[in-house]
Amino acid sequence: MSTGCESSGLCRFCGSTLRYTFADLGMSPPCESNLDLQQLNQMEPFYPLRAFVCHECFLVQLEEYVSPHALFTEYAYFSSYSSRWLAHARAYTDLAVERFHLDENSLVVELASNDGYLLQYFVQKGIPVLGIEPAANVAEEARKKGIPTLVKFFGREMAVDLACNGKQADLVVGNNVLAHVPDLRSFVRGMKILLKPEAVITLEFPHLMRLMEGNQFDTIYHEHFSYFSFLTVMKIMATFDLTIFDVDELCTHGGSLRIYVRHTQDLSHPETGRVRELAAREEKAGFRRLETYLSFDEKVKETKRRILTFMIGVKSAHRSIVGYGAPGKGNTLLNYCGIRTDFLDYTVDRNPYKHGKFLPGTHIPIFPPEKIRETRPDYVLILPWNLKDEIREQLLYIREWGGKFVVPIPEVDIF
Ligand SMILES: [Zn+2]
Repeated sequence: MSTGCESSGLCRFCGSTLRYTFADLGMSPPCESNLDLQQLNQMEPFYPLRAFVCHECFLVQLEEYVSPHALFTEYAYFSSYSSRWLAHARAYTDLAVERFHLDENSLVVELASNDGYLLQYFVQKGIPVLGIEPAANVAEEARKKGIPTLVKFFGREMAVDLACNGKQADLVVGNNVLAHVPDLRSFVRGMKILLKPEAVITLEFPHLMRLMEGNQFDTIYHEHFSYFSFLTVMKIMATFDLTIFDVDELCTHGGSLRIYVRHTQDLSHPETGRVRELAAREEKAGFRRLETYLSFDEKVKETKRRILTFMIGVKSAHRSIVGYGAPGKGNTLLNYCGIRTDFLDYTVDRNPYKHGKFLPGTHIPIFPPEKIRETRPDYVLILPWNLKDEIREQLLYIREWGGKFVVPIPEVDIF
């Protein structure tokens, strides 16, 4: 267990000195920056990938080593390449429109709107939208779909600008953005400013309780600055005079929360029993006790040993193994475990933007999925394990030559 004074950093929420290690994953490159062939012989930046837990507010977080501008201005993640995620976005749209009575007089603002994967469904229903997305290349895809998108980092300043121009929202959506926000206080304050009096914010983010239960250490990467329990996010919202009035537990990204937030003084949305129930469950599971967080690091190390034992067994038996997917979490796992082309011949991805490139740090090449049929590997390691059912359906043909699937998390599972 790593404890003791080990950081000079301060908690990005409450400002306390960060003293306690949650998980130390060694040195790792920024995980969304795939490399071109020419870059393979160049120096590559590696930064410490160590998550701390704040002993005051229990926010699990990374120190900021990499400039957010370097991370997010050219981003290779296009949400629309996952059909399951699109179905999730469409179902959310139906739910939100009905529950919050949205119509042609409403405004839906999405923070980190990516390539318009979600807002397109509001547009189809005739509801005005505004996307805010810092990555220019991804925002351009959204504009091509007819979705007005501002290329900017969202925060207090931008919210004031929008509000002054009469652009306050009936619904503010933030899916998988809260974890990526470097200035958490400015971001939450900005949402508050953007919100009309009876409007609602919904935010989806990976649930720290599920991360710990599921041993999902590979979801820790430089682009994810913060990891939230429900209790901690309640405290953060309350600080800015915002109240969580409902919560859904979702299975996306290995287990996420969707919180529904309103102005504290707005009584038009009463608090549901789910809020009290989840808060009580986390309390009981020890999320207000430091020891709970400090036990995770050893579990991570044990997982690494098990994954390597499996990989060594495969190679010793002269069998072949390739990867499926090139997600951020895959890069955390591969770099932490030291798995390069000595173990994994290559990986594949459906996103053509990634083809011909190489994973950062490990330099594993990325091919289109057809490569698997050509080379007939014995094992396919599914790196985005949260999509394993969808991927298994797409790749069932590997059974023709007796191929098997492997997921590394929560423990090595072969099927
Ligand atoms: Zn704190």
